[in-house]
Amino acid sequence: MKIKTKLRLGLGVLFLMILALSVIAAGYIYTLKEDTENILQDNYKTLDYSRSMFLALDQIHQGPEAGARFEQNLKEQRSNVTERGEGEVTNKIAGHYDSLKKDLNNPQMPVLIRNDLAELTRINMEAIRAKSDKALDTVHSAFIWIALTGTVCFLIALTLLVNLPGNVGNPIRELTESIRAIAEKNYAERLHFSGKDEFGELASSFNTMAEKLEEYDNSNLSQILVEKKRIEALINNMHEPVIGLDENKKVLFANEEAVKITGIAVSDLLGKSAIELAEQNDLIRALIEEKEGLHANSANAAVPSLKIYADNKESYFEKEIVDITIVPTGERLKKFIGQVILLKNITPFKELDFAKTNFIATVSHELKTPIASIKMSLQLLESQHTGDLNEEQKQLMSSIKEDSDRLLKITGELLNMSQVETGNIQLNIQSSSPYAILKYAVDAVKTPIEQKRIELVVQAENQLADVKADMEKTAWVLINFLTNAVRYSQEDSKIHIQLTPTQQGVKFLVRDEGKGIDSRYRTKIFDRYFQVPGSSKTGTGLGLAISKEFIEAQGGSIGVTSEIGMGSSFYFELASA
Ligand code: ADP
Repeated sequence: MKIKTKLRLGLGVLFLMILALSVIAAGYIYTLKEDTENILQDNYKTLDYSRSMFLALDQIHQGPEAGARFEQNLKEQRSNVTERGEGEVTNKIAGHYDSLKKDLNNPQMPVLIRNDLAELTRINMEAIRAKSDKALDTVHSAFIWIALTGTVCFLIALTLLVNLPGNVGNPIRELTESIRAIAEKNYAERLHFSGKDEFGELASSFNTMAEKLEEYDNSNLSQILVEKKRIEALINNMHEPVIGLDENKKVLFANEEAVKITGIAVSDLLGKSAIELAEQNDLIRALIEEKEGLHANSANAAVPSLKIYADNKESYFEKEIVDITIVPTGERLKKFIGQVILLKNITPFKELDFAKTNFIATVSHELKTPIASIKMSLQLLESQHTGDLNEEQKQLMSSIKEDSDRLLKITGELLNMSQVETGNIQLNIQSSSPYAILKYAVDAVKTPIEQKRIELVVQAENQLADVKADMEKTAWVLINFLTNAVRYSQEDSKIHIQLTPTQQGVKFLVRDEGKGIDSRYRTKIFDRYFQVPGSSKTGTGLGLAISKEFIEAQGGSIGVTSEIGMGSSFYFELASA
């Protein structure tokens, strides 16, 4: 039965019983009141009249006042006839009294009247007894009925008192405890309410919910575990070292390759602070130190490679640090939760690069001697010792000379580059005069400038301080700027050279009026082998890269400003000596 119905039924019956009890009690009280009132009204008054008539009768010979009192009481008795036989007796008293009045000395009449009055008293006293008995009966049955209804009320109230709080309170307490258990992730919690009432339905709904939560929890957990294992296996099987750090730089995971190159046992690596590990391990320190450097670098900066000695050989790695951020459920802002350090093994590329550099160095070095001997032979041919040359032969010779010059330039650049790549730049840094560098460079490009009828405008400030520079290499850079400017300038145009003092030293600037450089390529032209698409293919794309290496190796800076169609300005700055 539903709790609602139970409550309605219990309280309803209790209400009805209380109502019945009240009605019964009120009914009996009313009946008793009626009975008492009747006794008083009907019989007590008659007895009183009789007594007054007795007294008046005794005094009837003493004066008319006693007769009047008798009559008065008789009159009142006449209007208070209530019992059977009372009317006849009253009439008899009236008849006898009339006879007495006619003959006051009749001795018979007072006797008769006394008998009548006695009769009247007897009738009323009997009536009083009968009514009293009836009232007692009423009281008796009132007691029985009230006691019966009261007991039923008491029993119902007691049942409700004993059962109701428990019936409602216990399931609510159990439900509260179970909800608390579910909140604590104890999804095996169940409610065991039997019956088909509201609590039974509640229990079945609750159990269904707990079952689903348990299923969801179990399935999710196992799924997550499988996924975790899969990802761990993937990371472990990667051939590149991977290290995962949390937001406090604690090592979360490290795959086998990472363990191999760091040389630290997995147990000593996982869960440890990378900062503490860095104190003992050079590689970890390099990872952390370089990382800061990396973040500071611009996007275009070359990623420095790490040289690591592991597995009895030298390996080269390129490091990439990926910051991991998530947006937590229900939140909007991204939260930093850690980093993944990826090391890309570039050893095979490095080995190929070394091989290439060595090859280029060897070839260009080997080529230098035959080219020099070609040049020498050309000079001999030119010097008429070997006989006169006709015009055609002279032309052929000058083109051979041009080609051998270019060949010499290219082999020189390649040799320089291989020196740069192997880190073998030999700098002879000393205090050098900027004017001397300028003169050296201008002299070297005299011929091509003249050929193109270009006007060279030199603006060099007076009394420039000497700079810390390798005279030859710096002049080489300036020559490279000037040859480029000549190459990309129209005939009869101007090339400006400016030497200006700066805070640190001296700035050398070469400005042409050529086609300029597209902003897309401005940062790339200093890369090795890079040539702006569509530009003259005669070069190697190495000139500016070597210039950058030379200037930076001397502690200077290099750059370009250019607008398409407005010419270009290449500059470098060297510190004063
Ligand atoms: P290259 O040997 O090809 O000249 P560089 O490294 O000296 O190699 O130059 C790289 C590229 O930069 C060139 O291919 C050219 O497109 C561009 N460049 C260099 N100097 C100038 C300039 N003064 N005006 C326009 N473009 C230039």
